[in-house]
Amino acid sequence: MFIRNGAWDITTIRTGKDEVIAVKRVLYFLKSLRFRIFLMILIFGIAPGFVLRAGLLYAYENRAVEVDEYEISTQAKLLAAQIAANNYLEKLSSDSISAQMDQMSTIYDGRIILIDNAFQIVADTYEMDEGKLIVTEDVISACQGETVLTYDSKYHYIEVTVPIINTDSSEVIGMMLISVSTDSIELNLQYLRQWAMLIELLLVVVIIIVSIPVSARMTNPFTRLARSMSDVQNGYEKDFEGVRTYSETEQISSACGEMLQRLQTLDETRQDFVSNVSHELKTPLTSMKVLADSLIGQEDDVPVEFYREFMADIGAEIDRENQIINDLLSLVKMDKTSANINIVSADINEMMELLMKRLRPIARKKNVNLVLESYRPVTAEVDEVKLTLALSNLIENAIKYNHPDGWVHVSLNADHQDFFVTVEDNGIGIPEESQDQIFERFYRVDKSHSNEIDGTGLGLAIAKSAVILHRGAIRVHSVPGEGTTFTVRIPLKYSERTKK
Ligand code: ADP
Repeated sequence: MFIRNGAWDITTIRTGKDEVIAVKRVLYFLKSLRFRIFLMILIFGIAPGFVLRAGLLYAYENRAVEVDEYEISTQAKLLAAQIAANNYLEKLSSDSISAQMDQMSTIYDGRIILIDNAFQIVADTYEMDEGKLIVTEDVISACQGETVLTYDSKYHYIEVTVPIINTDSSEVIGMMLISVSTDSIELNLQYLRQWAMLIELLLVVVIIIVSIPVSARMTNPFTRLARSMSDVQNGYEKDFEGVRTYSETEQISSACGEMLQRLQTLDETRQDFVSNVSHELKTPLTSMKVLADSLIGQEDDVPVEFYREFMADIGAEIDRENQIINDLLSLVKMDKTSANINIVSADINEMMELLMKRLRPIARKKNVNLVLESYRPVTAEVDEVKLTLALSNLIENAIKYNHPDGWVHVSLNADHQDFFVTVEDNGIGIPEESQDQIFERFYRVDKSHSNEIDGTGLGLAIAKSAVILHRGAIRVHSVPGEGTTFTVRIPLKYSERTKK
C-alpha cells in the first residue's frame, strides 16, 4: 500500500481486502465438516491401497526369493554330491561336472565357486579368483556342514553355500558357493509397482470424484439446519421445524426447538410483564380520574360527606398505585446482581411474632384463623426486611386466597443447618398446571378469581427472589379446593458463595 498525491491508493487497499476475504474463506472451508469428511474419505480410501500395495509387493519378493533359494540349494546339493563322488575337487578332470557347472551358472545367471577344505578357491566359473583364499562367515559355516542361504536385497543377489561331503567318510572335503542374480525378481517387482501406482492414481481420482458430492450430501442436513435457524432468526419462518436426518441433527433440532420455545415464552412473559405493569399502573389512575371528574361535575351544594367519600376512594387508589410501585421496586431490589443485602443475626421467632401481629387484623377481616406454631427458638443470619417481606407475601396470600372461616397455619422449625417456615391454608388451592408458574412476575392463576381478589401478581416473585438471596429454597404443594402449603428453607448461616 502506498500514498499517491497524499491519498491512499484505493486499488491497493481493495486488493488487500479481497486477499484477506479470500484467506478467510479458505480457512473457513478448511475448518468445515464438509472438508473434514472429504479428507477422511480420501485418507481411508487411499491408505488401505498403499498398505495393500506395500504388503503384496513385500510378500511377492519374499516368496520369489524363497522359491529361488530352494531351487538353487537343491541343484547345488545335487552338484555337490556328484563333485564328491567324482573326487572333482582334487582332479578337476570330469568334463561332465565342468559342463554342469557352466550350464548352471548360465541358467541362473550366476557364478559358481568351488573351495577346498583349506579355503582355497579351486574352480570359479568366472575364472577370476582361482587359487585365492576365501574365508567368509558363510564358507566357515558350510565347512562345518551347514547349508547357508543369503539374500542381498540391496544388490539383488542370492548366495547359497553348501558343504561338499565325502559319502564314505562323511567328512566335509570342500564347499561350493553359488551366487545368483535376482534381477528378474526386481524386474517383476518394478512392473508390479508401476501397475499398483497406476491403480492407486485411478483410485485417488475416483475417490476424489465420489467424495466431493458425498461430503456435500452428508453435511447437507447441517447446512439446512443452520439455514432454517437463521430463517427463524430473520423472521422468515415462524415455527422452527428442524432437520431429522441424523440423530445428531434431531438432537440439535429438538434442543433448538426447546430453546426457541423458552425464548418465546420469555418474550411473551416480558411482553406480558410490560403490558401488565402498564395496565396495573393505569387502573388506579383511571379510577382516580373518574372519581375526580365526577367530583368536579358536582353541583356546589353537595354535602361534605360526599366529597370525603370520593376523596377516600381516591386515597385508596393512590395506595394501590403505591403498592404496585413498591412491589416493583422490591422486586428490582431483590435482583441478585443489584442486591444490597443487609445480613444480621436475627431472632426468627420474634420476627415471626411481629409479622403475625401485623397480619392478624387482615385475617380477622376475612374471618380467617391465623396461628403460629414455633417448635424451637431459632436465630439465623438473615436480611430481616427482605425475609419479612417474603413471608408476609406468603401469609397474605394464604389469607387472601381462602374461604371465610378458613384457617392459616404458620410453623417455624429448624435443624442444625436450616430453618423451615411452612405456610399452610385450607383455601382455594392452585391448579397443578399453574404451580410451576406462580413464581413468575405478574402471573396470576385464574384471571377471573384474581380480578375479585386484589393483587399485583408480584408477591410470589418477590418472595422467591428474597429466599434465593438467602441461598434458600421455596416449594409449593397444593390441591385445588383443599388448600396450599408453601415451605421455605433458609440456611441458619448466610454464605456469600452462590451454590451451583
Ligand atoms: P398476587 O398479587 O396475585 O397474590 P402472587 O405472586 O402473590 O400474586 O401470587 C400469584 C398467584 O398465585 C395468585 O394470583 C394466586 O392465584 C396464586 N396463589 C398464591 N398463593 C396462593 C394460595 N395460598 N392459595 C391459592 N392460590 C395462591
